[in-house]
Amino acid sequence: MRLTAQESGVNDMSKYDKQVYAKPNQVTPARPAIFNEDLCTGCNACMAACQADVFIPNPVEGKPPIILFPDECYYDGCCVEECPVEGAIRLNHPLMQKVRWKRKATGETFRVK
Ligand code: SF4
Ligand code: SF4
Repeated sequence: MRLTAQESGVNDMSKYDKQVYAKPNQVTPARPAIFNEDLCTGCNACMAACQADVFIPNPVEGKPPIILFPDECYYDGCCVEECPVEGAIRLNHPLMQKVRWKRKATGETFRVK
């Protein structure tokens, strides 16, 4: 059922008369993993571990895999777990997963694990 402005309780529509433009953010591809090129040996263990086939091997030997399908990542972390080199790869969680909560009483911020 569609309500008129009056029925919905909005009597004064004059303040809504202005034209409004929305400018969407530029769409950018997700970047689920970040490699440290100085540490990565290009062994491709992360690529082999990925069930979503996010990576393909780098044609340059010794270089990190290439992220081909970033939007397929579901952030399970297997690639990081399987990497034999500490710090060579880390997950880059999307913004919506980076929520920090704040306790009003103490001001402490924390993430839900
Ligand atoms: S987090 Fe999971 S899905 Fe995403 S790239 Fe790593 S292994 Fe693949
Ligand atoms: S598993 Fe680690 S060292 Fe091997 S290619 Fe992936 S990030 Fe590089």
